[in-house]
Amino acid sequence: MDRVYNFSAGPSMLPVAVLKKAQEQMLSYKGSGQSVMEMSHRSKVYEQIIAEAEARLRQLLSIPEDYAVLFMQGGATLQFAAVAMNLSVNGKALYINSGNFARSALKEAQKFTNAVEFASSEKDNYTHIPAWDDAAIDQDADYLHITTNNTIFGTKYIKLPKAGGVPLVADMSSNILSEVTPELDVRNYGLIYAGAQKNIGPAGCAIIIMKKDLLGRSPASLPTMLSYKVMAENASMYNTPACYTIYIANLVFEWLQEMGGVSAIEAVNRRKAAALYQFLDGSRFFRGAADKEFRSIMNVTFVAPSDELNNKFVKEAEAAGFVNLKGHRLVGGMRASIYNAMPEEGIARLIDFMAAFEKANG
Ligand SMILES: *Cc1c(COP(=O)(O)O)cnc(C)c1O
Repeated sequence: MDRVYNFSAGPSMLPVAVLKKAQEQMLSYKGSGQSVMEMSHRSKVYEQIIAEAEARLRQLLSIPEDYAVLFMQGGATLQFAAVAMNLSVNGKALYINSGNFARSALKEAQKFTNAVEFASSEKDNYTHIPAWDDAAIDQDADYLHITTNNTIFGTKYIKLPKAGGVPLVADMSSNILSEVTPELDVRNYGLIYAGAQKNIGPAGCAIIIMKKDLLGRSPASLPTMLSYKVMAENASMYNTPACYTIYIANLVFEWLQEMGGVSAIEAVNRRKAAALYQFLDGSRFFRGAADKEFRSIMNVTFVAPSDELNNKFVKEAEAAGFVNLKGHRLVGGMRASIYNAMPEEGIARLIDFMAAFEKANG
């Protein structure tokens, strides 16, 4: 069966090698006589899977010993609330509003703390990361929240706030494990979270990487399943974790390690994004939607000259095996999400298709 090139923003493509391995191990995982979906999460065999997933992630991201790694359900969206519920001490937090998810994180946090919009690019429909004044960062704030890659708008941070003693918190859902930069370096953060279904595995869990000294902030009054402290004390197994999602994540991490780690996939990601942006910049038909300075290498947003041509492009692309290219309604046009698992060949084939479409319609 032919597989399509899937440009979905999430859930998104998984490496074929990972899917094949999961297929091989489906009926009997490593001689256990059961699939990973069926086994007890308290069994030795499953304990090894979750421990391996954590160890591989620690190796890939050079996570220091003084950081905890948690697997929680509820996706990235539950973390919008969890961060505010766990990290509030003074009852004031700062948010940079750089996109729709950043805005949702701010609005959700406002239910639990005095969450303040510190900078915003909303009035420009988020075509860039907003500017901010480091000196204006209130040192009494409990944390400063950013969204390192704006999935819907196709922008990413190219420098970080210098927040002094205020911990930086990042939603890295759409660019974790994509490159080795200060913006994605664990040591620059108090806490990082990411939903699994973009660069990690199937939907069903979020990964939290946090400084252990922040665990002391979690109030005892929190719902058990929302407490970072309880999750850390129970190695993410207070209750049944997202067993199969974590298993696939472990295979994705193994795939990344075998390839040479994050710096190796970064080189591939940069070539993929550069090829697509170069084509867009040379086109007299298509146009990139985000400001050049802040272009994401994971989500490439672009438009054709009219809505009619955008629709025609999406439809014809789908028929040709390039699926999920329709942009988010807040941007219009198209979005090619080209996460780690999108092969370089997919980009080359898409560019050929775009060039042919431009020739026929331009
Ligand atoms: C996809 C995404 C989310 C939402 O993730 P869920 O797991 O669906 O809750 C939040 N933030 C960013 C940056 C995303 O890309």
